[in-house]
Parts: sequence; structure tokens; C-alpha cells
Amino acid sequence: MDSLNTRLAALRGGTSPVGFSARTIAGLNENPGCARRALLDASGADKDRIGARVGFPGRFGQSPFALARGRVFEEQIKANGAAQLLRLLREKLGLTIEEAAYLPLEDVGDNTGRELRARHTTAQLLRAAREGDDAGTLFDHPMLRLRVAGCTAYLEPDLVAFQVGGRFHVVEIKSFAVIDGQVDGEQVTAAARQAAVYVLALRELLADHGLDPETVSHEVLLVTPADFTNRPVVSLIDVRKQLAAVRRVLARMSRVETLLDALPEGVSFDLAPDDDGDPTRDPAELAAALHQIPARYRPGCRAHCELAAFCRDEARCADSLDVFGPAVGGMLGGVDTVCAALGLAEGTRAPAEDEAEIARALRHAETLRSGLG
Ligand code: SF4
Repeated sequence: MDSLNTRLAALRGGTSPVGFSARTIAGLNENPGCARRALLDASGADKDRIGARVGFPGRFGQSPFALARGRVFEEQIKANGAAQLLRLLREKLGLTIEEAAYLPLEDVGDNTGRELRARHTTAQLLRAAREGDDAGTLFDHPMLRLRVAGCTAYLEPDLVAFQVGGRFHVVEIKSFAVIDGQVDGEQVTAAARQAAVYVLALRELLADHGLDPETVSHEVLLVTPADFTNRPVVSLIDVRKQLAAVRRVLARMSRVETLLDALPEGVSFDLAPDDDGDPTRDPAELAAALHQIPARYRPGCRAHCELAAFCRDEARCADSLDVFGPAVGGMLGGVDTVCAALGLAEGTRAPAEDEAEIARALRHAETLRSGLG
């Protein structure tokens, strides 16, 4: 283990590491300036269990119902050698051939080890990229690798389609519905971010073996159910913007050493699990360790980070305007706390020279508000 990984492992302590996934890497983009999340994720600390241990269990992730619906939809799309999907790809990408090879990569023999699967996936994808004429090959659940903060993240796209024209397309299968041709913008953006992580991992795989990374298309295929049925529809999404954002956030993660250097001595997120794997770490001590790393709470954290409840409480206790999000913080530039903003609005606090304009606006807003009340 190199020295960076040793330091990160020490931060995590005896707790088993939580790997990066495309969802967590995409989530890093949501709040790229948060040192707390960057360090916890880089060290493989279990944010979910840490949050629960300090008294803020997260209600995070998809509901069991949504997960089950997603599984059923994916199984339907991939049944009979992905017959439904192939029909859609023929329509959308102009796939002319009737038959297509379908390669399930969920295991190698009966072995489901990630590294073995990743090597097997690499061999199959490289063969397809080099031979090229085997158009229409579908790779089901390939295992890709991506370097994140000096560690290997294992990523598993729903599917990679290798189609005519010699280009790979990442296929994302999601169970949120397209109703009357309209999809929920937030869900599509989240899917695009996740798909961009896969595109990047695929491009790096090809580049590492001397092949053209642009063989992987920046257009991903999003397969969703139409209206309230299980009839699948496919949309092409351009993820170039999301790709650039993922690259930026990964470059920032590679500077995680600087964040480690700034940590006070002895900070650890060790849950000190007992023989049954249950945490024994003193919650107050663990919370104190979290407080040692600066966070940037935003309301959006609730959708993408397991520590949102803890950080929200911290921001509230610190009287921080962060709980209202960056838009409010930007409008009140220079005024850092709720208490200070209220004082200016109510006229109980004399504004500093650079606060005069904000104070006028806040007093005006307060007059309107009291008039309404
Ligand atoms: S919830 Fe906390 S740790 Fe997570 S991104 Fe937001 S501020 Fe950072």
C-alpha cells in the first residue's frame, strides 16, 4: 500500500472500506467544495453507518419499492438475450443486423470477484474494439475500473452496446417513467451524471491499451418505461457536460493529500467494530472527529449524501446561512449568519460599511413581510 492509501486506511480504521460507485462519484459533483465528503469517500469510510452512530441515521437512497420496480424492468429489457433492447437499438441507432451477440459479464465461471470480472471485461471489450466488425455486441453488466483519489473504483454499468460504426454506447436502464414524452429533468440529469462516469471509465480503458478513447460515444442510451406501462422507450443523451464535470471532480480528488495534511493529529472515523461488526466507537468522539473537517452543507446534500442530517444540524447550530443554499448565501454576500441577517433586517444590528446595501434590502423585505403579517 502506498503512503496515501496507508493514511486513508488509517483514517477509516478497522471498518471495512466502502467502495466508490458511479452514483457516489457522480454525487461528488454535487458539492465539490466539501472537504468532509471528499475525505470520507476517499478513505472508504462508511458515511451511512457513521451518520447513524452519531445519531443522524440517513433516510437515503431509493425506496425498496423503487428498487424492486427497477429490477423487474431491467430483467424485462434483458430477457431473451435483450430482445426488447435490441429492437430499440435497431430503431434508435440504425442497427441493421438481425442478430447480435449478447455477452453476460456478471461472473466468470461462477466467480463474481470484482478484479477477475474487471480483467475479463477488459479482454472482451478490447477484443470487440480491435476486431470491430462484430457489430451489435451487447455487454451485460461489465465491470469497469476507474482511479479515484489513488484508489481503484469498480463500476458496473447496466449494459454497454457495441454497435455499427464501431462505437461503444453506454446504456442506462432506469425505471422512472416518461409520461407523454416528458421525463423528470432531475432524474435524467442524475442518470446522465452516472452514465458519464461509465463513459470516462470505458474511455480510460481503451486509452490505457493504446486505442482511441473517442470510440466510446458521448451519447448514452437511456431506457425508461413509457407512461404508466412497462413498454420501454429509448432516448439519446449527450453527456459531454457531465463528463467535463466528472473529470474536474476527479482532479480535485487527486489533491486529497492536501486535505489530509490539514487534518489535526489523531482524527479517525474508525467505528471500532466488535466481533459481530457492530460499532463501539463513542458517538460524541466520532461527532467531534467529523466537526474537525470543514463541510459545506447545501440543501441539495439531502439528495446525495448520507451525512446530510448531521451536517444540516451542524449548520443550524452554527447559525450558518448554508442551510438555505448558495443562492441565499450569494444574495447576502458577506453576512455569514442567520442571526446577523435578522439583526440587519430588524434594525437591531448596525451594518458595517460594506453591509449598508444588504441591510437596506433586508429592512425593505422585513417591512413588506410585517405589512403582510
Ligand atoms: S452532507 Fe455534509 S459531508 Fe455530505 S456533501 Fe453535504 S456538507 Fe459535505
